[in-house]
Amino acid sequence: MLVVCGAGGFIGGYLVKSLIALGERVRAIDIKPLSDWYQLSDEADNVQADLRLRESCHEVLSQASAVYNLACDMGGIGFIENNKAECMLNVLINTHLLMAAKDHRVSKYFFASSACVYAASKQDNTKGTALCEEDAYPAMPEDGYGWEKLFGERMCRHFSEDFGIATRVGRFHNVYGPYGAYDGGREKAPAAICRKVIEAKFSGREYLDIWGDGNQTRSFTYIDDCIKGIELLMKSDVVEPLNVGSSEAVTINELVDLVEAIAGTKLERRYQPSAPLGVAGRNSDNSLIRRHLGWEPSIRLRDGLEKTYSWIYQEMSNAQGQTAHDGKERTSNQNQTIPTRSSR
Ligand code: NAD
Repeated sequence: MLVVCGAGGFIGGYLVKSLIALGERVRAIDIKPLSDWYQLSDEADNVQADLRLRESCHEVLSQASAVYNLACDMGGIGFIENNKAECMLNVLINTHLLMAAKDHRVSKYFFASSACVYAASKQDNTKGTALCEEDAYPAMPEDGYGWEKLFGERMCRHFSEDFGIATRVGRFHNVYGPYGAYDGGREKAPAAICRKVIEAKFSGREYLDIWGDGNQTRSFTYIDDCIKGIELLMKSDVVEPLNVGSSEAVTINELVDLVEAIAGTKLERRYQPSAPLGVAGRNSDNSLIRRHLGWEPSIRLRDGLEKTYSWIYQEMSNAQGQTAHDGKERTSNQNQTIPTRSSR
């Protein structure tokens, strides 16, 4: 039995589907009620549970052979800059899952880490420096969220060394695609820009707001590449953390150019220098993942954005046109009765 934690979220929903497609038995866990999961696979054993609680972790890991820990209270830069304590509390999830994994003799454990572990001093210019794995030390990660991820990585390392659990760590770089958050404050830049451009189209507004001066550089990883990276990393014998990220760096202005081209529109840009910004420049150095896995993310930003834009456009059109559609995909309408342990 494979256990996916955070299965009601963006990446977790895709991961459950891909594991089921491979013929695996999957238990899917999230703190949210099933009705709020982004994607729901009825072939999975879907469970609502709060994984900050030690007893919940013990319960859901019974008969588990492998665990994928993607459960996390997180969001885009606006959320993580304003909710540092909440982000640090995610340490409870990884700690209790690792302890339960040890007790249940789970053989493999995946931890979803982040490019936010990288030291701030390596990301202080807009050249979009490609970060290689060793750039996480000497440590000065993103305050709150990044420190928790770095600590989580080290927990994995020491549980591997001391208790023999084969831990695998992927450092994700800005993952995007359909079935993710695009409003409400937890969305990331690609979804936020798509939403703003579509809002402008619908309302006839001729401008959009951009956080910062638009010169910040980032790379964005399409969801299919992220899932492939998790799959390959879990099959590998690589104990050290690996970047799972696109190396196609763009400025936020270039990201807006792409979305405007897809939308067939051109808007005035109103820059907001005092909005949350994150680091000046960040990209993924993929030398190590190429060396270890013979693969790296390769889906072009333009291609991934077209799919993302058209999904968000459809969602927003549906929301405008009718209230009956709730915007969540279901693979069937069964599996509605689940044990409820706690909710947020
Ligand atoms: P997401 O917010 O869509 O999914 C996370 C899920 O975890 C949510 O559904 C949430 O309800 C669940 N969760 C939170 N607290 C929980 C708890 N106490 N018990 C059980 N479930 C809980 O985020 P995502 O984009 O799918 O990210 C998945 C993982 O990848 C996270 O660990 C995140 O930090 C990491 N990551 C994501 C990105 C990205 O760009 N999406 C980048 C770097 C790292």
